[in-house]
Amino acid sequence: MYIVVDAPPGALDALHTSAAAIGDVLKVVAGNKGIAHLVVVVRILPCTRWRAVCHAEDGLIDMRFATGMPYPCTAMDIYGWKWTFPDFASHLAVVASHELYHYRAHHFPQDVPGYDPRDETAGNVYALAHAQQCGFQVQAQRP
Ligand SMILES: [Zn+2]
Repeated sequence: MYIVVDAPPGALDALHTSAAAIGDVLKVVAGNKGIAHLVVVVRILPCTRWRAVCHAEDGLIDMRFATGMPYPCTAMDIYGWKWTFPDFASHLAVVASHELYHYRAHHFPQDVPGYDPRDETAGNVYALAHAQQCGFQVQAQRP
């Protein structure tokens, strides 16, 4: 896995994280299987909400988070789930897990039986359970 962290000066400190800490979170949630050629981009930008996309066929996960987002925070995602993130690491763990779900479904369809790329609920169900299993204290309310 190749990780790119792009953030303006001071932005990582403000989120109480670092490039190394981001790498640690991504390694924990990604595991070891089939990620040798996966590229993960984490951008910290002056935006108001996080966004992420998985280009599974290209082996690219692209995520952006907001500068100065206060943690702990409770926020709604674009699918209507209300998430509570105690810290940036837990937020990153959930979003990365969701995108890894799409990545795995594409590259290891036998691991994700019945996968439907339009079914974002399944991605969130997986992300919540996986992030919690990895030790992140995230919570969510489904719509
Ligand atoms: Zn998704």
